[in-house]
Order: sequence, then C-alpha cells, then structure tokens
Amino acid sequence: MDQTALDNLLQPKTVAVVGASAQPGKIGYTVIENLLEGGYNGKIYPINPTATEILGLKVFPTIADVPGKVDLAVITVPVKFVAQVSKECGEKGIKALSVITSGFSEVGRKDLEDELVDIAHQYGMCVLGPNIVGTLSNSDKLNASFAPFLPFPGKATLITQSGALLIAMDAITYTRKVGFDKMISIGNMADVDFADLITWLDKDDNTSCICLYIEGFKDGRKFIEASRNTKKPIIALKAGVSAHGAAAAASHTGSLAGAVKVYGAAFQQAGVVQASDLNNLFDRTLALSLQPPLRKENLLVITNGGGVGVLATDAAERFGVPLHFAPQDVQDELKKHMPEFGSAKNPVDLTGMAGNDWYYKSVKFAYAHLWTDGLAVLYCETAMTNPVEIAQAIKKAIEETGITDKPVVVSMVGGTRCDEAMQWLVEHGIPAYTAPDKAMNGMAALREYNNIRQSINGTNEAKIPGSAKKAHEIIAKARGEGRTALTEIEAKKLFASYGLPVTEINLAKSEEEAVSLAHETGFPIVMKVVSPDIIHKSDAGGVKVNIKDEAGVRSTYQTILANCKAYNANADIRGVAVQEMAPLGTEVIIGSINDPTFGPTVMFGLGGIFVEVLKDVIFRVAPVTKGQAEQMINEIRSVAILAGARGEAPRDRAALADLVCSYAAMIYDLRDEVAETDANPVLVYEEGKGLKVVDARIILKKK
Ligand code: ADP
Ligand code: MG
Repeated sequence: MDQTALDNLLQPKTVAVVGASAQPGKIGYTVIENLLEGGYNGKIYPINPTATEILGLKVFPTIADVPGKVDLAVITVPVKFVAQVSKECGEKGIKALSVITSGFSEVGRKDLEDELVDIAHQYGMCVLGPNIVGTLSNSDKLNASFAPFLPFPGKATLITQSGALLIAMDAITYTRKVGFDKMISIGNMADVDFADLITWLDKDDNTSCICLYIEGFKDGRKFIEASRNTKKPIIALKAGVSAHGAAAAASHTGSLAGAVKVYGAAFQQAGVVQASDLNNLFDRTLALSLQPPLRKENLLVITNGGGVGVLATDAAERFGVPLHFAPQDVQDELKKHMPEFGSAKNPVDLTGMAGNDWYYKSVKFAYAHLWTDGLAVLYCETAMTNPVEIAQAIKKAIEETGITDKPVVVSMVGGTRCDEAMQWLVEHGIPAYTAPDKAMNGMAALREYNNIRQSINGTNEAKIPGSAKKAHEIIAKARGEGRTALTEIEAKKLFASYGLPVTEINLAKSEEEAVSLAHETGFPIVMKVVSPDIIHKSDAGGVKVNIKDEAGVRSTYQTILANCKAYNANADIRGVAVQEMAPLGTEVIIGSINDPTFGPTVMFGLGGIFVEVLKDVIFRVAPVTKGQAEQMINEIRSVAILAGARGEAPRDRAALADLVCSYAAMIYDLRDEVAETDANPVLVYEEGKGLKVVDARIILKKK
C-alpha cells in the first residue's frame, strides 16, 4: 500500500462528493452538510449531473469539470455507477476513494468489488470501503461521512469494521468523555485494510492510541506485522467468537481451535491489548490514549474513602494488577497528610476529612517518589469538598513534579459535580472514571500494554534443518498413494527429521517380524495398529502398552488385527508398529492447525484424556520465539501440574519450551503441505530428564 495515497484519504485538502444530492435525507446531501457543519477548511466540490447548487456550494456535473486538484473523492452514487465514476476520478488524477456505496461483497457481489479495486489500482488510487460510513477527523475538521458530528476531541483513533457501531460510538464519546481524533469506517476492506491504516496512524501526530473494532481479517499475518512495528498502543475488540476452525477437524488441535483462541494469540504476538466488550474498550482506550504505560510493579492507590479503596483493591486483583505496600519512609511521609485514623498502607486512605490540600500534598509526594511506578487517585464526593477543586489539586500536584513517564488514573464517585470535574481532568490529559474498578481497568490496560510489548521482543531460536528433503519425501510418498493422513510411523520419521525426540518405531507386517523387532527394540514394548484409516488408534483397540515377552507380542499382534478389523472392516491395515515403551511422564499435547486467517498456528496444552474436556490449551501463530513458548506453557490454567504440584518433582519445562519452539518452526516450514498435526501425548520427565513424543499425527492439505 502506497502510504502517500492514505495522506489523501485521511488529510485531504480538497474533497469531491461524487453523488452529492440537493435532497435532504439522501446520503449525498448529508455528507455535504456534515463537511460544512464539521467546519472543514478545505475545498468541497459536490458532483451531480443535474443540480447547480447544494447548501450554497457550486455543483459540478462531472469530476472532470472541477478546476484544480482533488485529493479525495467520497463516492455515494448507486452501486451500478461506481465503476464508471471511479474511472473518471482516476482520469482526474485523484489518489483516494472513500466508497460509501453498499451492494458489494456484503451482498455476494465480490465481482463488483474486484472491478472497483482493479480500476483504482490502474490509476494508483487507494479505496477505503466499500460499504462504509466514511472518515471523521477532528484535527482536520473533516467529517466526510454520514455520521452526524465529529467525535468528542481527543487523541485516540478508531478503525471499525461496523459502520453502525461507528455512529453509535461517535455519540458515546460525548457521554463517556473519551476523546477521539479520527474515526474510520473500514467496511468491506476491499483494498485499504487494518494494517495499512495502523502503519499510517503510527506516524500521525494527532493519534496517540489506535482503537480497533474487528470482525475478521483477510490477512492476519499482515496485521501482526504492522501492529508489532507500531510504537503506539493498539487496543482491539474482536467480535464473533464462533469456533470457525472446529468444523471437520481430524486432529485434537483442530477441534480445540476457535476464533477466540487464535485471534487472542495473534493479538498477543502483535503486541495488541484486548478489550472484552464495548464499555471495556472505552475505559481502556481512555487510559491508553492519555497516559504512558505502567512500566514496573509499584502502583499506589490514594483514596478518601475506605469503600472505594476496597473496590479498587478487588478490581486490581481481578485485572491482575498487584498492589504492594510502600516502604516505611514513604508511609511515614504520607502519614503527615492525613488524620490519626487514616492509613498509609496501600490503598492510602486520607479519610473523608481530606480536602484539596491533603490531596495535593500526598499526590505530589507519592507521584514524585522513586518507589512509585504508577498512581490511582480515588475520590468519593463529600459534603465538605468541591470535586472540581479536588481535580485541580490532583492535576496541579502531578504537573509540578515535572514527571511524565508514570501513569496516573483518577476515579471520582459522585454526581454531576464529579462529572464536571472528570471532564476537566480528561481535557487536561488525566483519565478519570465514574467507578474505581473502571480506573483500575484503565491502569491494567497500561500495564498489559507494557508487558505485551516486552514479551514480543526476541527471536526464534529453533534450528530449522537446512533442508526439509526427508520431510518432503515422506509427504510425497503419501500423496503418491492418494492419502492426506500420514501413519504414525511416517509422522514420527518426519518429526525426527526436524530433531524432535520421538520413540523408536518400526513396522511389522507379520507376527514373526513383530517378534524379531521386539527383540531388537528390547522389552517392554508398545504395539499399535498402522492404518491410514484409523486415526484414533485406542478407540479401535489398536494400542497395547507394556508388552513384556515374546508370547505377549504374538498374542497382541493377533488381538490388534482382530480388534481393528472389527472396528472398521474396510480399513487399510498395513501391519503393527513395534516401538520402545517410554517411561511414564506427565502427558502434554502439542499440535498445529493451518488457520484460515493466520496460517500455521501452534498449540500447547496438558494432554491425556481430559484435553478435550478441559480445553486448557494455548495457541500462537507460528513460528514462536523461545520466550513465547515459555509464555504458552505458563499460560495454561493447570501450569501448577508442570511446576511440581503436591510434592511431585517439577517437570522439564526448558525441554518443553524447546520442543514447542522447534515444533512451531517445523509446521511453519511445512506450511504449504501440512494442514493439521499433533503430538499427543508428549511425555515430560523431571527437570533435566527431557521428554518423549509417543504419538504423532499429520494430516496434509488437500491439493
Ligand atoms: P491414539 O491414537 O489413541 O491417540 P496413542 O499412540 O496416543 O494412540 O496411544 C494411546 C496411549 O498409550 C497414549 O496416550 C500413551 O499414554 C500410551 N502410549 C502410546 N505409545 C506409547 C509409548 N511408546 N510409550 C509409552 N506409552 C505409550
Ligand atoms: Mg494419541
């Protein structure tokens, strides 16, 4: 995407409205009206073949008739004319189209959308939309949309896939006092997508935080890349949580992957903070747009009421923000600004007697102190105090320290006087909230932003073998037989070619062969059916472990064949695998899918029979760094089991992180061939003793 084309889209000096109308109520009229009412300073050219004047502006019959240069064309003509007027815009030398018109891919007419983009690209134009509300920008006084007014001013910029939500959120900015500079409706994303806009906004002086409402991406990896490279906080609300990957899944991993989990993983890797709902999005955007990140642990809470202090403490725990007591010297100093019965612990309770001066002095001291990394100031409306004066005291105290790299949030609980005080604070750059838990949520977002950015540093340390020749030979052989399912033997050989520790395994085509292989392997052994048609071997009675002698091998060979024939009479049974029996260990699962949006994606979780019940699994888009692999392991709910629960020795998590990292590198390397895989289970031993992959499954992409 040519980023200069986006300059024309988002900061045009001249705007033509193609399809302008003289008839109130029509979108082509509303856009002109909004441009005028928004106070746009640039030139506005209404284009309409019949009208002569709209809202006092001279109308031009075609775009070609406009004198001079036009930066942006807003297109509102009916869908059947869009291609034609786009060509005319191209001929005129316009570089950006904002296509409000609907009736494209959203109603099954992807062909019209492709035609539009083809025309645009022939002329070097970018296309926003189609099927959008338009774009709004406070800093340019540009309301090139049919949303009725510019948002409450501020430094966040919204990009939304839902136009209706843009209009609603625009209105909410005034009631919630969350300021936005720009609001961009992205519509069908035929051309300009989230990644393009994020890259542009990173350089926009008027945007300090990028706020996203997402339904789905076309190119997930482009989004991750653009977001990772952005120096500004990004917060995303993802709608649509259906399990799109679950359909027709042949592996455990496939059935465990859902949009939420994979998108969540992608946001994590992109360094993007998430919001759980619309309210949450506003609360978090407010903090992220006005304050620096919380870089370290020490958050101090100052309050005039025990109740809001406790609510803040509860919320802090809920949002994972730790609260520590300040050191004694800090407590001693704070004690000077409160009555005897106050508390200098954390929360610091100045008591209901606190007036402007106590707030001023304690905030100034605490905020300036080296121990403090962030500050939350709470206030309950009292009869004795004036909320606006308290707000001013807080702001003055903060400002006088000269510090700008520590975050501060405020909550004022009360009536209209508090609302007034909070609006004043927000206008002066301090996020203020109607409830202490909301303030804590804002602070939590600042903390998550810091942590998430730190976690994405680092490189992939997995050694990918120089050539994947062996893997491709195995794949080619299966494809040659018209199969997409590899046998366990093939899958393990492929894993081994990438250096993964698998159990030794050999195919026996007869009872005699099984006996001799068993002797070679050494007892005890494990025997399993080998059939591309039997994916879940235990279900077919096709797995027997701990076979101790030759007689056992002989009888097991026959039992497995009989069981599997009974299970599926038509199964292509190639024999029985004889393999070394790995010692008991903690069972985990590592797997992968090829996600429709993000491509190869790796999964880790606790294995065994409960994996599909507990769904305690974590995804990441592959490849992953060693650090990310460690994070995945630490993120499962049952991590305590690996850390050594109930007196058991801790498991070899270092070896596990290495395996996850190598596994992700492998599936990324084979992304054009492999659809789904899993290693279920992997047996993990005590620290220093490593692990073993005892079952392997690979399903190839259909070609
Ligand atoms: P399935 O196709 O049913 O998943 P597996 O190969 O995973 O079959 O075998 C079922 C169970 O048998 C495993 O979960 C594991 O507990 C045990 N098992 C399989 N292979 C071995 C082995 N080589 N060593 C030790 N235990 C094994
Ligand atoms: Mg298994």
